[in-house]
Amino acid sequence: MKHVSIRTDVALAPFTTYKVGGEARWYAEPYDLEELRSILDVVPADTKIVILGRGSNVVVSDSGIDGLVVRLGGAFAAVDVTQHSQVVAGGAVALPKLARLSAEAGRSGLEFYVGIPGSVGGAVYMNAGGHGADTASVLLNAVVVDLGTGHLSIRDVASLGYEYRHSNLASSDVVVQATFAVSEADPEELTATLREITQWRRTNQPGGSLSAGSVFKNPPGQSAGEIIDQCGLKGLSIGGSQVSDKHANFVTASTGTSARDIFLLVAQVQKKVLEMTGIKLEPEIRFLGEFEVSGDVS
Ligand SMILES: Cc1cc2nc3c(=O)[nH]c(=O)nc-3n(C[C@H](O)[C@H](O)[C@H](O)COP(=O)(O)OP(=O)(O)OC[C@H]3O[C@@H](n4cnc5c(N)ncnc54)[C@H](O)[C@@H]3O)c2cc1C
Repeated sequence: MKHVSIRTDVALAPFTTYKVGGEARWYAEPYDLEELRSILDVVPADTKIVILGRGSNVVVSDSGIDGLVVRLGGAFAAVDVTQHSQVVAGGAVALPKLARLSAEAGRSGLEFYVGIPGSVGGAVYMNAGGHGADTASVLLNAVVVDLGTGHLSIRDVASLGYEYRHSNLASSDVVVQATFAVSEADPEELTATLREITQWRRTNQPGGSLSAGSVFKNPPGQSAGEIIDQCGLKGLSIGGSQVSDKHANFVTASTGTSARDIFLLVAQVQKKVLEMTGIKLEPEIRFLGEFEVSGDVS
């Protein structure tokens, strides 16, 4: 049996869109299912395990992660667009790539993923969405490996407890593959839609700076960005992190910013919004590793 190789003290910042944070005490990039399941044999049962996708929704602590960080390797990056009514993609596939390959093959339904810089696994876990669709509305099922037991299951979409930016997947569940429902359409029209979505993002979201997308979930029927804007918080900054002038629900970071700066700014926005409106914004981004308790974002 093949075993995955475990590296120590691996810098995590390059694996995230914020490009901040420390090292993983242990790090594994299992190439395929066999290597993924071998993790059970090579790490003690009580090891803290963190699954990282394309790191586009996380802030890794400056002190890193005192545990094992797992990122899916090469065999999980395959996409099958040959079937008429479904597209099958590995957990490591980048969402913009999934959108493009599907559109080029005349498979409609996954266009909204073109502007979301995460992975298929991260999207299934987070119920990523935008432009009137979300993962729950296009997913048929996901293949999940429980790293606690090694058990593999095919989870029907109805069993995933989907809500807005939420699934009931446990932190030990690794999404290794997903099957999406699609319909047939003209590839040129689909490609034009991708261009429109990309253009909309360029116009409405801060480009060229480091971020993890929307920081807070939208409260029911409201826009977190509008609430933050109405509180006059655009431009608020700590260190190199700043509430974007373009979209108030984005906290951008300049090169050299610390994870602590981002954490403190997010905590401050949450506190000020609560004081001014009575609304407690719930973070959408995930803080991984240890962050100081004062100003905790919960
Ligand atoms: C510029 C920008 C724009 C964005 N726009 C949107 C948007 O429009 N809509 C939206 O929903 N999000 C958006 N995001 C956020 C982000 O891209 C999504 O949440 C995405 O689904 C995260 O995927 P990821 O692979 O990067 O996950 P990560 O950030 O690596 O991880 C996020 C969570 O998913 C878990 N996870 C990752 N991979 C797996 C896996 N294989 N199995 C199980 N769990 C896993 C992690 O443990 C973690 O808890 C944006 C981000 C950026 C930077």
